[in-house]
Amino acid sequence: MIGGPGRSEDGLKFAWPGSLEGDMLIFGLRVCFRTIGHGEFHCQRCGGDRQYRHRVGRRWFHIFYIPVVRLDKAGEHLQCTTCGGRYRTGVLAVPTAAQMEAALPAGTLAAATCMLLAGDPASGPARRRAVDAVRSAGLAGYDESALEEDLVQSAVTGGDIAAPLNALAAQLAVPAREWFLADVVRIGLADGQLTDDERLAARQVAANLGLTAAHAYGVITMTEEGATAE
Ligand SMILES: [Zn+2]
Repeated sequence: MIGGPGRSEDGLKFAWPGSLEGDMLIFGLRVCFRTIGHGEFHCQRCGGDRQYRHRVGRRWFHIFYIPVVRLDKAGEHLQCTTCGGRYRTGVLAVPTAAQMEAALPAGTLAAATCMLLAGDPASGPARRRAVDAVRSAGLAGYDESALEEDLVQSAVTGGDIAAPLNALAAQLAVPAREWFLADVVRIGLADGQLTDDERLAARQVAANLGLTAAHAYGVITMTEEGATAE
């Protein structure tokens, strides 16, 4: 955080030396801020998701506090509309609580449909496994008909898995990514051994989770061996 609510102005003030009352004529530099955007972010001071104003400043030469000559830019910041705290714009890289909550079901859904479409999307056991995975990820009401709609949608659009899995990977430690990948592989194994396309889908999921090819190979192989031993 770079400042509390305080003043959004910063400048120099001078008293006119010849003035009768010392402060009659005042001039100097003043920073004026204007809002160029709004959004939601995680405010450290409030400890939760809040609305922000994105503000940029510019220095002005002023007389009697009236800006008269436009000077150079004077930085930018985000200001929490609740507590007034000011932050550098880099704070937007921190996911909000709402984004964190949405990332797991979104990532699971993307990976599960990717795996189903790579194998046999009509397989009952594989579909049930996929539905269970999405429910466990937080969408308690998810069912077969919702899955059917998502499979159609994913088949039509090509199913972008990069964005949801990259967002999820940012929140998961490596062991959690391994666990996630193993669960996706089990969807592919629900209707028998992995096909080449299912194996490729698993490797794509792993790559988008930030796992190396060697790491992915290890997780996929161990999950296959575990399924065979069951
Ligand atoms: Zn705040």
